[in-house]
Amino acid sequence: MRCIKCGQRACFEIRRHRAAFCQEHLIEHLRNQVEKTIKKFKMFSPKDKILAAVSGGKDSLALWDILLDLGYCTEGLYIHLGISSYSDKSHEMAEKFALSRGVPLYTVSLKEIFGEGMEYIARKTSKSFCSACGLIKRYIMNITAKLGGFDAIATGHNLDDETAALLGNVLRWQIGYLARQSPNMPERGGLARKVKPLCRLTEREMAAYCIVKGIDYILDECPMSRGATSLKYKETLNLLESSSPGTKDQFYLSFLERGQRYFKPVEEEVELKDCVKCDQPTTVEMCSFCRQMERAGFDSLALKKSLKELLSTKGNSFII
Ligand code: AMP
Ligand code: ZN
Ligand code: ZN
Repeated sequence: MRCIKCGQRACFEIRRHRAAFCQEHLIEHLRNQVEKTIKKFKMFSPKDKILAAVSGGKDSLALWDILLDLGYCTEGLYIHLGISSYSDKSHEMAEKFALSRGVPLYTVSLKEIFGEGMEYIARKTSKSFCSACGLIKRYIMNITAKLGGFDAIATGHNLDDETAALLGNVLRWQIGYLARQSPNMPERGGLARKVKPLCRLTEREMAAYCIVKGIDYILDECPMSRGATSLKYKETLNLLESSSPGTKDQFYLSFLERGQRYFKPVEEEVELKDCVKCDQPTTVEMCSFCRQMERAGFDSLALKKSLKELLSTKGNSFII
């Protein structure tokens, strides 16, 4: 196999593009794909300030690295959920990356703020672990973006994540989710814009990117996500992709270009108001984050206070 750019020995094949690349041209190809995606979906411009949500995994660290190489103005956010040794290890990876690139990383630690981690908080609420954790992560990302004056939040969701979510939504005909699934969720009611610049690249490509660039990342999956349905959808899509390369690309991009227009949001335009406790937008009196934290016996405002302090400190890697 030869690199399609320079004819030297290739180290990586991308079957769906019928292409192979040497290390140098693999990096260039993946970077170009991200730049094209940002432009195609009008995600942000070099004038914008971007909050890179990093989990310590390959996708989000590769994304942050690419955004920095492309010259975008980014700062990182790591949410320390206090999940056994997994959180400590993933935090170490995020911090190591930030220090190596000399970029600020804000670390928000649930245990530091509330005295308890995600496992305790999820047990105290009536939600499943993943939905309680998802709610807390989304809230922290939104409020950090708002308090820190960021124009968009970039996450490391890749083509495998997006197609697995799409398959799940189709299998259950989740009309509302299908109408909203987008790599560029515009700002709404004071919630920051959310973008997924890796939506056209696969997990395998992001792992290769990190290896070639020498970026250390946490190999373990979150221990709480074992057995998740989305992993089954990913396996199924991988089977289809291996017999017909390009299946994921077609499924996802054709949906965005042609399929999505047939799905309209089911709910009536709901009026957003400020949460009585924290001022974040909500459809009811108190937002779901404040309600969840109240149920778990914590004061949700402690988070906002800590975040304000954290954001007022500028520099390399902070822990609160
Ligand atoms: P997940 O929902 O775990 O598949 O992660 C999807 C994306 O959310 C990642 O690529 C990150 O951009 C972001 N993310 C997940 N976990 C964290 C975390 N603990 N701190 C900051 N961002 C995160
Ligand atoms: Zn080459
Ligand atoms: Zn609230």
